[in-house]
Amino acid sequence: MVFNARDHIAVDTLAGRDAQDGIAIRSDLLPPTTHGSNIRGIVDREIWDALRIPVCAAAGNRCEICGERSTRNGRSSRPDCHEKWVFEFRDDRPVQRLQRLIAVCQGCHQVQHSGLARVKGLEHEVIARLCRINRWSREQSDADLDRSSARSSYLDQFDWDLDLSVLRGQLVLRDYPEMYVPARDRARLGNSFFGIPPRGEGTPR
Ligand SMILES: [Zn+2]
Repeated sequence: MVFNARDHIAVDTLAGRDAQDGIAIRSDLLPPTTHGSNIRGIVDREIWDALRIPVCAAAGNRCEICGERSTRNGRSSRPDCHEKWVFEFRDDRPVQRLQRLIAVCQGCHQVQHSGLARVKGLEHEVIARLCRINRWSREQSDADLDRSSARSSYLDQFDWDLDLSVLRGQLVLRDYPEMYVPARDRARLGNSFFGIPPRGEGTPR
């Protein structure tokens, strides 16, 4: 495939129904250098709940992409909460920025972890959803998986600073009041890295 870095970095994998190009969802695959920075993995369960539950409630406990309710073991359940990342260059400095948290059903969430789906032998489910949501052909869905793989490989060349400033007021990041972690410090991310949420203003309810 022809890889145009500028276009491929800017792609919105969870554009939803308001997508300017009509493509609601695309497959995604985070570059390996950024693995481990998921909020859920590095904060306590209580803090993660305080972040995700209001996001899901604001979405009416429906997927913000396909509009469906989530089910788990045949019963309705709260949607998953996914981090919507933007990769960008600021003065040539690579920055992975958390755009927002988004409520997604399990099916749409899986499309955002297409590499994991492939490892689990579930890539056919990703393809089926891309076809259904976007009204794509099988060939278009296959091409999108190729695109996400190429994008991930491209992004993996860089060491990404981490910008979590969208969560300022909801989380305290020790040593980084601006919620901006330089790439060289990302290895410090761990369960003790975050403080408890500040009380009062800005605290999710
Ligand atoms: Zn969905």
